[in-house]
Amino acid sequence: MNASDARLSGGCQCGAVRFSCAAPTRISICHCRMCQKATGGVYGAFASVDTTALSWTRGARKIFHSSNVAQRGFCADCGTPLTWEGDGEVAISIAAFDRPADLKPQVQLEFHERIPWVHDLGALPARNNADYPAVDAFMASVVSLQHPDHDTDAWPPEERAG
Ligand SMILES: [Zn+2]
Ligand SMILES: [Zn+2]
Repeated sequence: MNASDARLSGGCQCGAVRFSCAAPTRISICHCRMCQKATGGVYGAFASVDTTALSWTRGARKIFHSSNVAQRGFCADCGTPLTWEGDGEVAISIAAFDRPADLKPQVQLEFHERIPWVHDLGALPARNNADYPAVDAFMASVVSLQHPDHDTDAWPPEERAG
C-alpha cells in the first residue's frame, strides 16, 4: 500500500456524521460568496474526493440545495458544514478531516470575490496566552465535547449518553 492508497477520515464536530475517503484529487480554497456563507468562514476550503471511494461511515449528512447546480451537505445535529456537491463532484471541508494539516490547498477559486482583508491575516499580531494568565486558566478549564479526530466505536461515550 502506498501513500495514495491511504484512507482519510473525518466528520462533523458532534460525531453524528463520519466519513472515509481516498486521497483528494484537488485541494482548493474558494472565495465565492456562497462558500463564505455556507461555511460561516471567510472562504471555503475543500478537498475534492473520488465519489466511488467515499463512504459515510456514521450517520448521514443533510442537504441544502444552494443553487441550481450544487448542494451543500452538513450535520443536522451540530451544523458543521461538510460538503460542496455538484456535477458528479463531492468536495469535503478540509477542516472536517481528522488531519487537516495534511491537506494543503493548491489553488484559490473565485479570487475576485474574496473578502479584501483575507490576505492580510498573516500579518496580524498573535496573542500569546502565556501573557494573559486569566485566559490561560480559562483555556485549561475547557472540557471539549467535540468528537475526537479519529473514528470511535460509539459516540458519545457511555457516561455522557442520556
Ligand atoms: Zn454533528
Ligand atoms: Zn465557492
